[in-house]
Amino acid sequence: MYLTQPLHRALQQYPDRIATVHGDRERDFATHTDRVARLAAGLRSLGVAAGDRVAMYALNSDRYLEHLMAVPWADAVLAPVNTRWTEPEVALALNDCDARVLIVDDAFAGSVTALLDSCPGIRQVVYAGEGTTPEGCTDYEELIAASAPAPDARRERDALAALFYTGGTTGAPKGVMLSHTNLLTSALGCLASGFLATPGGCFLHTAPMFHLGDLAHWVMQSVAGNTQVTLPGFDPPALLAALPAHGVTDLFLVPTMLRLLLDHPDFDPGALAGLRRLVYAASPMPKELLDRVARLLPHVELVQAYGMTELSPAATLLGPAEHRGPHRYSAGRAAAHAEVRVVTPDGEEAPPGQVGEINCRGGHVMRGYWGRPEQSAEAVRGGWMRTGDAGFLDPEGYLYVVDRIKDMIITGGENVWSAEVEDALHEHSSVASCAVIGVPDDRYGERVHAVVVPAPGPLPTAAELDGHLRGRLAGYKVPRGYDFLGELPLSGTGKVLKRELRDRYLTPAPPAHPVA
Ligand code: ATP
Ligand code: MG
Repeated sequence: MYLTQPLHRALQQYPDRIATVHGDRERDFATHTDRVARLAAGLRSLGVAAGDRVAMYALNSDRYLEHLMAVPWADAVLAPVNTRWTEPEVALALNDCDARVLIVDDAFAGSVTALLDSCPGIRQVVYAGEGTTPEGCTDYEELIAASAPAPDARRERDALAALFYTGGTTGAPKGVMLSHTNLLTSALGCLASGFLATPGGCFLHTAPMFHLGDLAHWVMQSVAGNTQVTLPGFDPPALLAALPAHGVTDLFLVPTMLRLLLDHPDFDPGALAGLRRLVYAASPMPKELLDRVARLLPHVELVQAYGMTELSPAATLLGPAEHRGPHRYSAGRAAAHAEVRVVTPDGEEAPPGQVGEINCRGGHVMRGYWGRPEQSAEAVRGGWMRTGDAGFLDPEGYLYVVDRIKDMIITGGENVWSAEVEDALHEHSSVASCAVIGVPDDRYGERVHAVVVPAPGPLPTAAELDGHLRGRLAGYKVPRGYDFLGELPLSGTGKVLKRELRDRYLTPAPPAHPVA
C-alpha cells in the first residue's frame, strides 16, 4: 500500500464527498485528486525527479494537504519544515535533506531570498500564498492550471515517503526517514482499535502540520476517506468558531494546546457539542488537566497516543472506555501494529512495575536518521527502537511513561522523574504551567528545581508551593528552589524546552526564590 492509494478509492466510491476545507474553500475528492495529479505533474516539470525532497514551509492549509499527496504521486519525498525554526535553522534542515524544491506560503515568502542564498541545492521555489507571486517564484495555482494530470507513481512500499525532523526537544532535530509502509502501518494499526477516525467524520488540523503528531491524522483520515478542515494554526477563538461551523467530529491537540483552550476567556463547552473524539499526544498529560477535560467534555471520546516521530509515530493507545477506568493515567497499551517492552540498563526485559527504557518494534519503526548511520544504529537495535523514554508496564500491559531519560534528575543518588513533580505542582490552583529540571549542585550532583508560570490571581510563594508538595511527594523529590516566569520556552510543537531552561543554570546565578 502507498500513501496516495486512498485517493483512487475515493474516486471510485465517493468522488463528490468533501475532501478539503480551508476558510470558505471546499473541494470534493474528484477535484482534490485532479489537483494533486496536476500538481505532481507541475513538480515534475520543475525538475523534481524520483526520490527528490520537496520541502513545504507553510502554515496549515488545504494546499498543504494537496502537496502531501502530490509529492508521493510525483515519486518524490516529503520534507515538511518546522515553522517555528529561525531562518538559519530552516536553512540547516533544507541543506541537510538537500531539498530541490521549496514550497512557501505568505507567512514565509519573506524568507525566500535569504534561503536561496544559503541553500544552493534549491532549484525552484513555488509560492502557495494568496497574494501576488514574488519574483523568481512559480505560482502554485498557475502550476496546477498549466499542468495535465500525471499518472500516480505508486511508489514501492518500502520507498522513502517522507523526512520528518524530530521535535528538537532534547537536541538538534534529526531527519527521520519514513517509508510508505512505516506511515501506513502506524495508521492502520491505530485505526484497527476503532478509537480513531469517526466514520463519515470531519477532522480539523489546528496543530502544526509539519509535525507527525498532526500528520498521523492526515494519513488516518485519508485512509478513512473523511473530510479534512485546516486552520492556519492553533488559535482558540478561531478553533472554537471552526468546530461548529464545519461540523468537526475529530480533533487532535497536544496537552499544552488543550490547556490554552480550556483557560481561554472565550472557552465555551457548547462550541464543542458536535465533537465526537479528541486525541491528545506528544508530551505527558498532567492528571489534573485530563480530569478537567473529562469533566468539561463528558460527551467527547478521549484517546491518548504515545509515540515518537521515529515510530511513524504511534506505539500505544488509551481508548475512550479506558479513560473512565483505573488505567486512565497510563499511556494505554501497544497498538495493533506495535510490540512494546521495557528494558533494564543491561538490556534485559524488565518485569511489570519496574522502570526502564521503553522499546518498540514493528513495521512502523523508521528506516533510520537521514545521513546519520551511527545514530541510526544506536537508536534501533535488533529491530527495537530505543525511545529514550523511561516507563514501566503493569501486569495487564498498560504503559506508564514516567519521563524522558534525559530529563530524569539524579539528586544525591535518588532518581526523580520530573513529570511526577510537575503533576503534583499542577494540582496547586496558582500554577498555570510548570517545568521541573535538574540543576548542578555541588553536594547532590543535581538538585530539583521548578520553573512556574503563575495562574491569574494571587501569586504563589515558594514556601506555599513547598508546603503543597511536601504532603504529596517524598522529601528528595521536592524542588529546592523556584523561579516564576511569564511563560515557558516551548518548541514548535508546544513542548517545554527543558534544555533551554537548564542552560540558564549552567551560569552560576542562584534561583530567584530558594526554599530556605
Ligand atoms: P527530539 O527527539 O528532537 O528531542 P522529540 O522527542 O520531542 O524531539 P517527537 O518525536 O515529536 O520529538 O516526540 C516524541 C517524544 O514525545 C517521545 O519520545 C516522548 O518523550 C514524548 N511523548 C509522546 N507522546 C507522549 C505521551 N502520550 N506521554 C508522554 N510523553 C509523550
Ligand atoms: Mg525524540
